[in-house]
Amino acid sequence: MPGSVKTEAIVLRSLRYGEADRILHLYTPRRGRVSAIAKGVRRSKSRFGGRLEPFFRLEAVLYEGRSELLTVTTASTLEAHPRLRESAAALDVAARACDAVARLFATDDPHPGVYHLLSNELALLDADPAAATAGNALAFRMKLLVAAGLAPQLAACASCGEREHLSGFSGAAGGVVCPSCEAGSFSLSQDAHDFLVGALGQPLAEAPSAGPSALAQAERAIRETAEHHAHVRLGAAVGSGP
Ligand SMILES: [Zn+2]
Repeated sequence: MPGSVKTEAIVLRSLRYGEADRILHLYTPRRGRVSAIAKGVRRSKSRFGGRLEPFFRLEAVLYEGRSELLTVTTASTLEAHPRLRESAAALDVAARACDAVARLFATDDPHPGVYHLLSNELALLDADPAAATAGNALAFRMKLLVAAGLAPQLAACASCGEREHLSGFSGAAGGVVCPSCEAGSFSLSQDAHDFLVGALGQPLAEAPSAGPSALAQAERAIRETAEHHAHVRLGAAVGSGP
């Protein structure tokens, strides 16, 4: 039924469309991911100004007609995140965070917790662009897995419940595994296991850190969990650096 909806939204992507328009991928608290067209946004006198760029948090009125594509009627800025935009590392982590949300939560199912998690991540990167570390990026993804109902089992073997000698990780099994259940697993160091536990248990602003090899194992655990249980391929959590 046609009508207008007022909603907060985070701009995940902003694509040029035609002469002067943009297609936006928005993440909203109660309507999940939606696509909307903003008309005339690339004209110099557009009423939208520059606020339909990625990472803006907006309050928008969207008109819903018969098409799946909504139309942006008005948009006001709640957070522009200007400091985040001045840091290449923070921009990279923010872009990959938005991409992970778009892949794991691609539908209009409401996940208010995901909206708040992404809001928090962008606010954190804006308040302190130096927070854009691999540890932060991976902790964000662990929390996304939880929001998707895919939290990996970390306290006991995901196959048999054994609580000792948890030295492997299996995406198919859904978490850490013991040596008897290690088929299809890869070796997970104690540091990587500790990182995953800390990333789940601590607030995003206090994301743990770990050495490069533990972080690489943690990233593989997250990637394989998303592949096996959500059939989603996540890109790398951080760039390969300068
Ligand atoms: Zn086992």
